[in-house]
Amino acid sequence: MTQFRMDVSIIMADEFESQVAPRLGWKIIGHTESPDQWDWNRYDVEAEDCPAEYAGQLIEPYGLLDHDTAVAAYAEQASALAEGGVDLLVLETIFALEEAVWAVEGIKSASELPLVVSFSYDMGTRTMMGLSPTDAVTTILPLGVAAVGANCGRSLADTDEVVTEVLAAAGDVPVWIKPNAGVPKVVGSQVVYEAGPDMLAEHVVRYVEQGARVVGGCCGSTPEHVAAIAQALGR
Ligand SMILES: [Zn+2]
Repeated sequence: MTQFRMDVSIIMADEFESQVAPRLGWKIIGHTESPDQWDWNRYDVEAEDCPAEYAGQLIEPYGLLDHDTAVAAYAEQASALAEGGVDLLVLETIFALEEAVWAVEGIKSASELPLVVSFSYDMGTRTMMGLSPTDAVTTILPLGVAAVGANCGRSLADTDEVVTEVLAAAGDVPVWIKPNAGVPKVVGSQVVYEAGPDMLAEHVVRYVEQGARVVGGCCGSTPEHVAAIAQALGR
């Protein structure tokens, strides 16, 4: 069994493999062996015929994900996770407002667990779909979530701006911030993130001083990054 150091309060298990997007990905992949022969317009393929790791779908009209499919899939996943005994549900790395609203609808129909909704502003201070932190937060808050926030993103300087905007829009609702360790670079055969433990911790401590209530690290953060954050916060 994996052993955890006790400087964290929340341990997350990502469910990318079982989420709606990969599952919709299964639906549109054909039976042929080679990816360049896959028929992206097929809808009638059984899930078990298709590779689970393949990419997912965007919401309509950019992709095939519609309201009813999203709500049903998120409800199913939330109820399975609740049954499995998790304490908290986290909907993270979200880019599209509609998908977030549909996902919250599905999750809340299936579970009363506290729910965090976290967007990824990976274009800097906007999501891939052009959404601003203020628009994201003000739309999600009336849906009754436990916390709202941001994860991943681009550089830490961008995240600094995002955090200020999220905090201003969130009012009394707890803010959840989980930045990546800066921008990744390929060095030789390795991907290296620009922020080491101390630099990430320095930014995250500032977020807490500004009012963020739950903090951590996303892509590129290691146990050393998390330990540096915990230590800097006096944990
Ligand atoms: Zn990430």
